[in-house]
Order: sequence, then C-alpha cells, then structure tokens
Amino acid sequence: MAGTRSTRRTVGPGRKSAALLLAGALSLILADALGAQGFRTRMRFQMGSLTEITVPDGQYSAQSVSRAFDVVDRLDRLLSTYKADSEVSRLAALGKLRVSPETMEIAEASLRLARITGGAFNPMLGPVIALWRQAEELGRLPSPEALEAARTLADFERVELDRAAGTIAFPVRGMGLNFGAIGKGFAVDKAAASLQRDGIRMALVTSGTSSHRLIGRPRGGACWELGIRHPGDAERAVTVLRLGPGGLATSAQSGRPREIGGRIYGHIVDPRTGRPAEPRSPVWSASVLAPTATDADALATALIVMEAADGMALVESLPRVEALLVRRNPDGSPRLVWSSGLTQRGTLDGLPLIVPVTEIGCMDGGASSGPAGAAGEQALRAQPKTQTGRPPPPALNRW
Ligand code: ADP
Ligand code: MG
Repeated sequence: MAGTRSTRRTVGPGRKSAALLLAGALSLILADALGAQGFRTRMRFQMGSLTEITVPDGQYSAQSVSRAFDVVDRLDRLLSTYKADSEVSRLAALGKLRVSPETMEIAEASLRLARITGGAFNPMLGPVIALWRQAEELGRLPSPEALEAARTLADFERVELDRAAGTIAFPVRGMGLNFGAIGKGFAVDKAAASLQRDGIRMALVTSGTSSHRLIGRPRGGACWELGIRHPGDAERAVTVLRLGPGGLATSAQSGRPREIGGRIYGHIVDPRTGRPAEPRSPVWSASVLAPTATDADALATALIVMEAADGMALVESLPRVEALLVRRNPDGSPRLVWSSGLTQRGTLDGLPLIVPVTEIGCMDGGASSGPAGAAGEQALRAQPKTQTGRPPPPALNRW
C-alpha cells in the first residue's frame, strides 16, 4: 500500500495521544487537546444540540466556520418542530406549504430512506412524537386511542412532494413531518459542504455528539479515529473506528431518555406500535458509516427499531454502507457485531480497532497488533478501569 500512511506512523512514537473523540451516542471532543495538535474546534448550540467544527489550524478561517454554523442555524429555523414558525411547523398547521429547497431536499431524502428501511425510519412520525413529548410534560402516558390515531397519520407514502412547484402537502389534517432522526446528519453534511466551498479540505463536523461528517483525511492520507461510546458508561469506548471521509452516525435508545410517570422511555419510536422501541432492546447502539451523514443518521435510527439480523441484512444490501452494532451479552457486557465491509485490525489502546475493508488508505495497519479478524462478532469483556481510577483513554485521535 505504497503512498498511504497509517495514523500511527504519522504521529510517531512518544507523541502524546491527545484528542479524545467519542462518536457514540454521547461523543466527546477535547477541544484543547485538538488545539494542541494543530486543530481548532469551535462549537455553537444549535438544533437543541452542540455543533462542533474541527478544522486544521492551517486551513482555519473564522469566517468560513461562522458561515458553516450559519447554515445549521438556517436549517434549525426551517426544520425545527420546536419553533412554531419553522417551515415544518407551518406545513403541519396548514397542510400544504411552498418550502425552501433545503426542506424539499431533506424531505426527499427522508422518503427515500423511509422506503429503504421499510418504514423503520419514518419522517412522518410527527404526531406520534408530539404525543410522547406531551406525555413527558404531563407525566402521563398517551392513551392507546390517541396513540393509534397519531400512528395512522404517520403514513409516509401519502405525503405529496411537488418538486416543480416546491410544495409539500398532506392529504389528511394532523399529519406532520419530524426530521429528528435525520436533521442533524443533514445539517453536518450541509455545514461540511459550506466549509468545502470555502476551500477547507479537511474537517470534522459533529452535531449532538452522534452525527458526524468527515471531510478529507488527517495529515498524510491517514484516517480519522473515532471511538464508539460504551452504552452503559459515558466515559468509556467499546471500540475505535478508523475512517476515511464520509458520514458516521450513532443511535442509541439511551441517547435521550424521557421519564413519564416514574418510568424511563427511549426517544426512538417503533413506527409499528407508535411506542418507544424497547429501551432494553438487545441492540444498545447502532453506528452506521455511509457516504453522507444524512443517510448514516436515518439508517442508524432504523437499526435501533429493526431486529438486529434484519438491520444487518439491510446494511449488507446497500452499497458503501456499513454498520457496527453494540449488543448486550447476558452478563451485561457489550458484544460487537459488524457488517462484512468492516474488519478488525488488532487493537488500539486495548480496544478493538475496526476499519473499512475498502478504505485502502485506512488499511495500512501501523496500529495493528493482532491478526485481521473476519467480519463477524467479537465478544468483549468490560474494560477494567486503570489504576488511577480514571477510565482508560477511549478513542485516540491521531493525525
Ligand atoms: P439523536 O437525535 O439522539 O441522535 P436519532 O437520530 O436516533 O437520535 O433520532 C431520534 C429522534 O428522531 C427522536 O427524538 C424523534 O424525534 C425522531 N424519531 C424517533 N423515532 C423515529 C423513527 N422510527 N423514525 C424517524 N424518526 C424518529
Ligand atoms: Mg438518526
């Protein structure tokens, strides 16, 4: 693999492994550490989440980064179901609306992904999600009748998109879009595109710690390394993914728990029942790699809803899409399951290092300390804490 370099070799021995990049449902970027390595991270609170933009010092432009944040702000204004004057809210109130190109684009992408996932990802869950939000406020579960009525409105095949006229229409009052499971992925894609338009060739754009768009490669054709968070312990990672450019999203039912009447419910809805997909579902978290974060985000949510085997079969059927599921062993420890386009290349800091088979640039196994494993499953015991009582470094981002 001439011409490619591993991140390890790029970094060299003795260099401090500085940045902690956890891509799980709650990932973590240590901005200071990145800064120390010649990267700058800026953050803005948007879409009810933190957007983080990381750019190498040499390419950093305050103006470009601000412009990228502004792109996300605009999407927030268009797409939020929390803002009464957003296009999504006005569309739900009016039943038909001429929308901005961005709203049309995400609606089209959403319908495409709804079809691909057989409705496991369903952007028309607006009324169902509104009921659960209300239930949380009232501290009372929605009535089965209300839930059933809302669920029947969530028929994504009945949405009318007229691209030429720029309109979206619903045939029935009460129908409504909700881009909660795809909006952050779409937003990081658009923010990344804005950075690229400004000439920035390498960046990591993250929203809500779980939707990522990677552009370019860290120095020297190396790869990004992101840790997937341990679903039971925010401080730890279960594995490290070594990635080239593209989208990565992680969904977990534990991502945003809501309490109703003393019980905890997950925020991902099973469209077949209108109820939260079982919080203790055997799939703890689902991470998806795809060419765009938009696709990765919607697919990751779908994988939480679907049976693990069905979800993996779907992933295998999609070109350039890979997935890593964190399942739960009977003893409570996590177990990794990954799709056939990923392989294990030994370990990195004691964690299984997973790399895409086809990403040649990421396959130069400088960090490989064991045989490359076949696609499949790997039993994983809980990581012991270090002697200092601090968790071991989960994901080390080396440029
Ligand atoms: P997060 O927003 O925490 O990254 P997801 O991407 O999985 O997590 O999106 C979950 C959000 O998407 C929910 O809060 C809700 O607004 C919406 N949602 C829940 N279930 C579904 C579903 N099955 N299909 C589409 N959207 C969903
Ligand atoms: Mg999602």
